[in-house]
Amino acid sequence: HQRIVLASRPSGAPNADNFRLESSSKPVAGDGQVLLRTIYLSLDPYMRGRMSDAESYAEPVAVNDIMVGGTVCQVEESRHPNFEVGEWVLAYTGWQNYALSDGEGLLKLGKAPAAPSYALGVMGMPGFTAYMGLLDIGQPKAGETLVVAAATGPVGATVGQIGKLKGCRVIGIAGGAEKCRHAKEVLGFDECLDHKAEDFAEQLARVCDQGIDIYFENVGGKVFDAVLPLLNTSARVPVCGLVSQYNATELPAGPDRLSLLMSTILVKRIKMQGFIIFDDYGHRYEEFAKDMGDWLSQGKIQYKEQLVEGLEQAPQAFIGLLEGKNFGKLVIKVAEP
Ligand code: NDP
Repeated sequence: HQRIVLASRPSGAPNADNFRLESSSKPVAGDGQVLLRTIYLSLDPYMRGRMSDAESYAEPVAVNDIMVGGTVCQVEESRHPNFEVGEWVLAYTGWQNYALSDGEGLLKLGKAPAAPSYALGVMGMPGFTAYMGLLDIGQPKAGETLVVAAATGPVGATVGQIGKLKGCRVIGIAGGAEKCRHAKEVLGFDECLDHKAEDFAEQLARVCDQGIDIYFENVGGKVFDAVLPLLNTSARVPVCGLVSQYNATELPAGPDRLSLLMSTILVKRIKMQGFIIFDDYGHRYEEFAKDMGDWLSQGKIQYKEQLVEGLEQAPQAFIGLLEGKNFGKLVIKVAEP
């Protein structure tokens, strides 16, 4: 039994020393329990928040505790009446290759799901985030201009594609030419710009010649600075994530732009709303699962995963996620099914 624990809290970007791989004997299912074997582990930006003890919407991971995370597992042993050996489940068992469960919180995925890892991405938490954030807060209308960064990640890629289904003009923002090409050629975005380009703000102004009606906020920082002056009257800004700031140890250098932000919100009557997906929308999961299942089976939504083999690779892969080294939804393949 292998597991990765939080060895120490990072200051700034996490490094390998903040994690520790531990080994122990394989757990055995007791009465009413199942033994789960992890096949896939999801790595997501929110995990950076759990490594810190700053106040947030969720409790931090304690030092020496296992890192949290969504997993797709197979039942290896069952002493629970509702679970059979070999069944697949979506669980939240964290960075380890085995876990015991009393069945609570497990979502059944069947005996032979076609693409079990999708439950961690487009058919799971990130897909649900894209769906609710865009449709409920963004309120897209045909002909509007939608801008989304982290455009090839599981949230951004899904936001842009749903935007296209709703008739928007979709501008992606991503790190590097290869990701931008993918956003246009595979995901069907109208444009995609590299935020690392020197003249990124000018390029964005040029492609958004009708302004921006919806900015789906995934990254913050310089991207938001470039977006703010382009927002149209009555623009909507679902505030989903600020990944460019997750490793920050202090506020950015001035000038202070808060009064510019507030006056823009006022004069242009902009609606900005943050959301935490399961806290705010857990009751609407079925609606999402139905629509997304249909769109995927009809080939209307494309989905790219980056599978990295081996639990021991999780720390490096996670560190890279915060620097844009991933290309597509980052998933650790912990074991062969
Ligand atoms: P991604 O797989 O898209 O990974 C994060 C991406 O962010 C990187 O690949 C990188 O893409 C981009 N990025 C990193 N640093 C910067 C930077 N300095 N400037 C611009 N872009 C940067 O992650 P997800 O799709 O899983 O998540 C996207 C966002 O959604 C995150 O902010 C996450 O926290 C948030 N989220 C919020 C939820 C909620 O309930 N509110 C739920 C789920 C996710 P690139 O190389 O293209 O720049």
